[in-house]
Amino acid sequence: MFSSSSSSSSKGVALVTGSAQGIGRGIALKLADDGFDVALNDIAPQKAKLEQVVAEITAKGRRSISVTADVSNEDEVKAMVDTVAKELGGLDVMVANAGIARYHSLLDTTVEAWDRIHAINLRGVFLCYKHAAAQMLAQGRGGRIVGASSMAGKKGAALSSAYAASKFGVRGLTQSAALELGKAGITVNAYAPGPVEGPLLDEGIRTMNETIAKAGGSTDLKEALLGMTAVGALGTPADIAALVSFLASKEARFITGQTISVDGGINFD
Ligand code: NAD
Repeated sequence: MFSSSSSSSSKGVALVTGSAQGIGRGIALKLADDGFDVALNDIAPQKAKLEQVVAEITAKGRRSISVTADVSNEDEVKAMVDTVAKELGGLDVMVANAGIARYHSLLDTTVEAWDRIHAINLRGVFLCYKHAAAQMLAQGRGGRIVGASSMAGKKGAALSSAYAASKFGVRGLTQSAALELGKAGITVNAYAPGPVEGPLLDEGIRTMNETIAKAGGSTDLKEALLGMTAVGALGTPADIAALVSFLASKEARFITGQTISVDGGINFD
């Protein structure tokens, strides 16, 4: 289930789900630069990519292991947290990043599609929060929990009913968990990315453009997204990682229950 490598003293132990690529990989590399030992997670078919990220982190002189698990499965999430704590000596930072995006009109959203998106994007984040919190409370040294919401978790979007609902759900979960865990020195926050370069965005743009073309339109979603931002640019994984790096730090102890936009100025709270 896991592999490991070794190194010197560290700032603590971080676990990042969905970190074989994209935003999760960017967060994992940044936390390693910050001095954390970093456990990586993704689903089994992503194992080879996970191992590449393990090698990148090891090359930075930090310890790293990879644990394959499906975040929608409670037994697998619990086993993942237990493995990380045993192998790396605890858990100080949990980043529940794994998520999927699917785009259907309201009428075309099947119950199966709705349940699949919610199982990963909302139940998966809940399970990571729950088992990370249990580990952190048992350790008694505080902690940092961070989850993935989205710009669609702040404002609904066409063809995104299930996705937006799951990402709005992460906000409520984050606020509630923050209220329960704050006095134990555990903060809980979420990031709400705008369009961030990578496979998830590419697929979303392709699907949406097809749907727009079928309806007789000619809008290019990439251009439309660029136009929605104040900065006129797409984000990168490093933009999200910079926020998570701060939220994971001791200095961020007075920030909790927040879902923070990193979207180039698309949504204003
Ligand atoms: P991505 O698709 O590039 O990476 C997501 C990773 O999660 C993949 O490696 C995938 O294999 C993994 N994953 C999927 N299901 C899993 C499961 N059940 N268990 C464990 N791992 C699983 O996506 P990304 O762009 O890096 O997005 C990361 C997070 O940020 C997601 O939660 C996404 O919804 C959110 N987000 C992304 C954007 C964007 O524009 N890229 C915008 C808003 C929010």
